[in-house]
Amino acid sequence: MINVEHLYKRFGKNEVLKDISIDIKQGEVVSVIGPSGSGKSTFLRCINLLETPTEGKISVAGVDLTDKNTNVTKAREKIGMVFQHFHLFPHLTVLENLTYAPLKVKRLSKAEAEEKALVLLDRVGLSDKKDSYPNSLSGGQKQRVAIARALAMEPDLMLFDEPTSALDPEMVKEVLDVMKDLAESGMTMLVVTHEMGFAREVADRVIFLDQGLLIEEGEPHAFFSQPKSERAKDFLDKIL
Ligand code: ADP
Ligand code: MG
Repeated sequence: MINVEHLYKRFGKNEVLKDISIDIKQGEVVSVIGPSGSGKSTFLRCINLLETPTEGKISVAGVDLTDKNTNVTKAREKIGMVFQHFHLFPHLTVLENLTYAPLKVKRLSKAEAEEKALVLLDRVGLSDKKDSYPNSLSGGQKQRVAIARALAMEPDLMLFDEPTSALDPEMVKEVLDVMKDLAESGMTMLVVTHEMGFAREVADRVIFLDQGLLIEEGEPHAFFSQPKSERAKDFLDKIL
């Protein structure tokens, strides 16, 4: 589903990603962990071309995003992204947040877009909030709306950048539960997270970044119990 070859990203002289290569299969859930500033967000943002890679190749679902002939806008429609700070449209209701892109981009009829949106709201447990505005929701509810909104475009792949980091502790679980359901439904997911419980229990694989390098990757239990690199050991010692 995702194929990254020799990806480099520089901001001026600052080399933020250094020779990252990885393949992610359809249906795989991969957690990206690493210290602050290690390049996790930049890595995710390169995968949907919110950042332009400096060098290297990225393909998603067989489409080479780094080929200048690729219709990037079209390819990006298949990649859902969920951010730390929700980024909902404040002037639209929950239902309108979900139908906006399907109406504009997929050109669905209003009835069809709403029908799909209601199914998704039910899936994230927020059917009763369809006519509410984002301001009136809790952080956990906002993030569940953001997930449902991304799913409304029927993506092949979902990217999550610290989806629970801005939430009060009591709201973390409701969001992780939605993500866990999504993982179990077979969605391909790339998740930057500090929630080691999620990484351990839900992810098929963990990748560890430090200073722009992919230092280590592995099956979660092996990674957490016996990290191979000193850098991963140091990091885990600090957080666990
Ligand atoms: P992480 O998500 O792991 O905390 P980031 O990918 O956000 O790390 O950042 C990695 C490095 O890239 C940091 O040194 C950061 O300052 C730098 N960086 C990120 N985005 C930009 C940008 N748009 N312009 C310049 N430097 C950036
Ligand atoms: Mg980040």
